Amino acid sequence: MALFPQRFIDDLKQQADIVVVIQDYVSLKKTGATYKGLCPFHGEKTPSFHVNRDKGFFHCFGCGVGGDVFKFLELHEKIGFADALKLLAQRFGVPLPEMEQDDEQRANAAERETLLKIHEAAATWFHQQLASNAGTRIRKQIENRGVNEATSAALGLGYAPTSRDALKSALLQQGFSQAMLLRAGLVLQREDGTVVDRFRNRLIIPICRDTGSVIAFGGRAVDPDQQPKYLNSPETPIYSKGRTLYGLNLSKNAIRQRKFAILVEGYFDFAQVYQAGFQGVVASCGTALTPQQAQQLRRFTSKVVLSFDPDAAGQGAAAKSCEMLVAEGFAVNVAVLPPGDDPDTFVRKRGSPGYAERLEHSTPYLEYLLDRAAANHNLNSDEGRVKFLGDMLPVAGRIPDAAMRDRFADRLAFKARVTDDVVRAEIRKAVVQKQGTLTRREVPSFGHVTKAEKGLIWLLVHQPEDSLEALAALDDVDFEGLAGGRILDLAKKLNEDKGFSPAALLERLTDVDVQLVTAIASEAEAHVRDAHDCVRILKRLRWERERAAIQREIDRLQEVGALEGEKLQELLVRKYDVIQRIEALI
Ligand SMILES: [Zn+2]
Repeated sequence: MALFPQRFIDDLKQQADIVVVIQDYVSLKKTGATYKGLCPFHGEKTPSFHVNRDKGFFHCFGCGVGGDVFKFLELHEKIGFADALKLLAQRFGVPLPEMEQDDEQRANAAERETLLKIHEAAATWFHQQLASNAGTRIRKQIENRGVNEATSAALGLGYAPTSRDALKSALLQQGFSQAMLLRAGLVLQREDGTVVDRFRNRLIIPICRDTGSVIAFGGRAVDPDQQPKYLNSPETPIYSKGRTLYGLNLSKNAIRQRKFAILVEGYFDFAQVYQAGFQGVVASCGTALTPQQAQQLRRFTSKVVLSFDPDAAGQGAAAKSCEMLVAEGFAVNVAVLPPGDDPDTFVRKRGSPGYAERLEHSTPYLEYLLDRAAANHNLNSDEGRVKFLGDMLPVAGRIPDAAMRDRFADRLAFKARVTDDVVRAEIRKAVVQKQGTLTRREVPSFGHVTKAEKGLIWLLVHQPEDSLEALAALDDVDFEGLAGGRILDLAKKLNEDKGFSPAALLERLTDVDVQLVTAIASEAEAHVRDAHDCVRILKRLRWERERAAIQREIDRLQEVGALEGEKLQELLVRKYDVIQRIEALI
């Protein structure tokens, strides 16, 4: 990627008044120190969209988006950071600097650009084949699968004819080299040296980035005995299967508006659900979702609904996707379909109202698992209850959010008819055992940011000197496990490198953390006495965490009957030490 010099970015940010930029899109009214307007990212009637001119950020209290002037353009124009820079430079008449690129970067960028052009040309060509006489039979097949012309066009469907190398010839004629066609994975070299088209006699489904550029193709068999049923582009410099969510280019706006995404498995599930008017849909394309794909989705929502065939549920890709999404902090619901149905067949039979009803009655995934496990075991017998708990405890252990885990403990206790304390102790143990593999990144949500963290973050933006001075007293371990820990840690490190400014902080944080900062900083006041107080509280929390960890270890030793011995003594000494540290901080 081309790199812009930091000085240029800083200068541009100085020049580009965020209020002026946003006023191009949103009508803003000055209220006190900030500007307010109707949020352009979600529908609302009373303004909850704030812009802070002095600090150079915006934040919406309705939908939670926030960031600096570049982020606003990225989101509103749906462009990348580099393009947002260029747009602003143009708008404010700041000359673009010479790109700092080395030869290798230039070569890679040029190669990627050519690969994108090849895919664009191929998509057009496949589409023409579908529209031609040769494509008549395939058009009929698409129609028979209940996909209308508008949907087919939206998906950019095409046809790869039976010929050995028709696509190759067409692209060579357009001036692309055979070497680049091979690199794009659109042609293959056989052992005898001949180079032929990868996709022959297949229905072609273009796979796009969320910006809409075609980066790969899926090819579906059109004859009953044709193998394999699905053939995909290989991984290339522009395409990584595990990082691409099918359909996001078509659905991202709807997902943002409706605040949830429907996740289906196949291209035709996608086509039917999309066509039925549920445009906030994405497809995982047969494999379990990866954390990288979840990250893609998180830019637009953190709520996902999956449609399940109850027979296939519990095993397979859908269940794995659910588990991963829950572990990544998503709210996951399950819309159960009749046995044997997938979204494709179900929507064709029952139409849009039928599917809408299923979505409406979708249940949280954890509830769904609980009900299913309860139905599979006889909870009237001790043995059944033990097995039921055995099934559910690993699930509980993977819930990243402590409050949610607690609620789940209540539900488990109720179903298994055991007293809360026992089940909670079991769950805590399951969670501790799991910790090694648990994803470390906890998703910050407002509830978990302590008042002290909020206070420090607010002060970082509005009165940085005090909070930076106070933060210097914290160590790396003090930040661990805090929802705002990465923000505070980064602020401290930037300050040590003499480079702290609220803008520099926002630039380096992840999108989720940026939203956290802008949300807190948009409040009218800090709600805390001073930064040193906050730091003392965070210090104390760290020692409380340590005390809890020691206590857990002591409990464990006592449980296995190791009541004497050096280990226990050592733990008791440490516990006493930690308690004294805590008391010193009160
Ligand atoms: Zn909003």
